Amino acid sequence: MGAEVVFIGLGTMGLSMATNLVRGGLSVVGFDLMPDQVAKFVAEGGLRGESLAGALQQAKVVCTMLPASQHVKDVYLGEDGVFAHARPGTLLIDSSTIAPEVARQLGQLAAERGFEMIDAPVSGGPVGARAGTLTFMAGGTAKGFERAQPYLQKMGKALYHAGDHGSGQTVKVCNNMLLGIVMIGTAEALQLGMANGLDPKVLTEIISKSSGDNWVLNNCNPCPGVMPAAPASNGYAGGFGVDLMLKDLGLAVENALSTRCSVPLGALARNVYDLHSKAGNGKLDYGSVFEMLAKS
Ligand code: NAD
Repeated sequence: MGAEVVFIGLGTMGLSMATNLVRGGLSVVGFDLMPDQVAKFVAEGGLRGESLAGALQQAKVVCTMLPASQHVKDVYLGEDGVFAHARPGTLLIDSSTIAPEVARQLGQLAAERGFEMIDAPVSGGPVGARAGTLTFMAGGTAKGFERAQPYLQKMGKALYHAGDHGSGQTVKVCNNMLLGIVMIGTAEALQLGMANGLDPKVLTEIISKSSGDNWVLNNCNPCPGVMPAAPASNGYAGGFGVDLMLKDLGLAVENALSTRCSVPLGALARNVYDLHSKAGNGKLDYGSVFEMLAKS
């Protein structure tokens, strides 16, 4: 008998998420283009599949955690892909961050082929993925969301149904646009205070009890030394990369164009991270934008 779950995309996020499904008692077969990632999954108790088509024919659930829209389209629509080989009725959960329009199209195509599909992107990063404390924001039918609960619960702690197909991705895009903007604003405020001789710890403490309080200030403060555990205090390593933020702001700006929405700060933030990335900082935590704003 085949595995209950097929998990495609065992990268930074997917490897931990698939491992949590295994720890939750499920049989999970994992696939990735990188053999090393599959080997790590097998070391955690996951199964190695002979062929993706064969595994899909046996599965009740397919989870995907892939880099971007094109990878997700290839995996679902390709000749050897999910729509071609999974059995009708299979539950399909895509947790990649992709364009809401693509998630809508795939959700509709899935329904036409007799699948139940939800878009279920996540917030919480690699730490949340390892701890099984991700926030899932899902789009699709209420029935699809209901069927996904036992699986999502093993990977996350806050599960939300936002609306129809694509809605989960829309929430994710809105959230990350706001996060990107708030990070730049927080970095600016800290730099301005420091240029006036203030201690950034004192500044952070007072703002955190005032109207400028925000999640970035308290959870990933961009000023080195303010929070020992934050990426800023560790050379901006191990956090949420500038290039990932840039990708998400790109999705926001593209979506704003197609919906004729004005996002002046979202577009400005995308440009700021783009310049920062081009200066060689793409792999650093997005809080490193603090250094870009430093007084010379
Ligand atoms: P990653 O690049 O580490 O992992 C993606 C994996 O997919 C890679 O191992 C790659 O080899 C594999 N892959 C690509 N095409 C494939 C294919 N056709 N078949 C099988 N495997 C394939 O990326 P990640 O950091 O795990 O992010 C995954 C998604 O989650 C992205 O959409 C990202 O925006 C989103 N996300 C990431 C974070 C984060 O902090 N890393 C947080 C929230 C959301």
